Amino acid sequence: MEPLIAAIDQGTSSTRFLVFNAKTAELISHHQVEINQSFPKEGWVEEDPKEIMQSVYECMERTCEKLCQLNIDISNIKAVGVTNQRETTLVWDKVTGEPLYNAIVWLDLRTQSTVERLINKAPGRNKNHLKHKTGLPISTYFSAVKLRWLLDNVDEVQQAVLSERAMFGTVDSWIIWCLTGGRNGGVHCTDVSNASRTMLFNIHTLEWDPELCRYFDVPMEILPKVRSSSEIYGWMKAGSLAGVPISGCLGDQSAALVGQMCFKEGQAKNTYGTGCFLLRNTGTKPVVSEHGLLTTVAYKLGKDEPACYALEGSVAIAGAVVRWLKDNMGIVQSSSEIEKLAAAAGTSYGCYFVPAFSGLYAPYWEPSARGIICGLTQFTNRNHLAFAALEAVCFQTREILDAMNQDSGVPLTQLQVDGGMTSNRLLMQLQADILCIPVVRPTMSETSALGAAMAAGAAEGVEVWNLSPDHLPHVSSEKYDPQINSDESEFRFARWKKAVQKAMNWET
Ligand code: ADP
Repeated sequence: MEPLIAAIDQGTSSTRFLVFNAKTAELISHHQVEINQSFPKEGWVEEDPKEIMQSVYECMERTCEKLCQLNIDISNIKAVGVTNQRETTLVWDKVTGEPLYNAIVWLDLRTQSTVERLINKAPGRNKNHLKHKTGLPISTYFSAVKLRWLLDNVDEVQQAVLSERAMFGTVDSWIIWCLTGGRNGGVHCTDVSNASRTMLFNIHTLEWDPELCRYFDVPMEILPKVRSSSEIYGWMKAGSLAGVPISGCLGDQSAALVGQMCFKEGQAKNTYGTGCFLLRNTGTKPVVSEHGLLTTVAYKLGKDEPACYALEGSVAIAGAVVRWLKDNMGIVQSSSEIEKLAAAAGTSYGCYFVPAFSGLYAPYWEPSARGIICGLTQFTNRNHLAFAALEAVCFQTREILDAMNQDSGVPLTQLQVDGGMTSNRLLMQLQADILCIPVVRPTMSETSALGAAMAAGAAEGVEVWNLSPDHLPHVSSEKYDPQINSDESEFRFARWKKAVQKAMNWET
């Protein structure tokens, strides 16, 4: 039997555990569990850290059972990689192992006033004041402000810091700490890709930055140790996979870049999940964006390997708009049903939907923007609304792609895509139409998990996955070519931009 590598993919909407053949990259088995999100106040988004861990354990055990039913010996699993929703912030007690508050999810807006205060205080009110070190604008999106909120507002967190019991982490750190033993010797670490989303990390020196920690008044002793994305961090302590090394760790978007084999400078991918994230590999040099994109550490595949960087365009609301139409409006019973409605409409009939539920991220970075639906007539029905929601995802991607092309000076000639929403064929065709370039989707769309598995399998001491270009598996894909003329596409995009301006200034 060929060696197998597993990956935990802890996303915003769900947790998955997937097992791949390390020679062919074939997905052998997997299990998925949805994650509850709570919205305790307007703009707040939380998840329960214990539920996250329970979902991880459940997915692992159920997948192992499925492998047994397939007569596959689980001892063939040689390593486990972790990929995760980024920026989501946790603090727990290292003595009791208990979380001290819910996880504050990346989309959460509770820090908006803190962010406005920090920006007002910055020289020239420049939100890019810390960009030279972090690659990021000051925004509610990143972990530092969420951690600041926890330190200011949760007594248990303050007490735990004073008694030296507090541990901070993003979801990767929480999972690895729990799986490697938790309060009985768990390993407190993160990788460079996740660290680069906290705003406490210097993306040039690849270390926590004392000045940034002072700026956000964060005690450095609660931070995890920063490691590369591919090395043995520790071993699973319990369950069916006890003794298996955990040897890969990548934020979900970095993992998708690896899983799409975008190792060369200039290669890019767009992932459509809860949000939408377009990353372009810029090689070993961090490139500063002039057009509202982020500079981020993409990966560092081994202790002695160089870090690779990416330019990133982040869209807060993509699949989340579909979930909103399902959960809040009851327009569909399941996310996939939206395709049927949109197909029945075939057009938005002049309706534009800007889902700025959490402000607007790239390229605007406007936390006070709010969602709008405009262009409604007596004729508009839920099918048009469904179409407009999908079109919004495509327009947002178009804005990012335009910024990316301007920053790099070399236009992308096709877009590699992945993520939960890409099973929606209407969306993929619409995307090709709005970008006026082909969209290419791998038939195995679990690329984040594949990337994490590749990092785990290639780690020193595991070495069952070869990351050199000659050995990369061939993954089949399907292509969507643009079908409308560019005039029509430009007309619709211009309308969309008008709608965005209204979402940004809807109160004035
Ligand atoms: P994440 O990694 O952020 O948890 P996923 O990649 O699992 O996200 O994608 C889930 C998101 O995609 C959900 O927001 C869901 O509403 C949306 N989604 C899933 N399937 C479809 C579909 N067929 N059409 C449109 N949206 C979909």
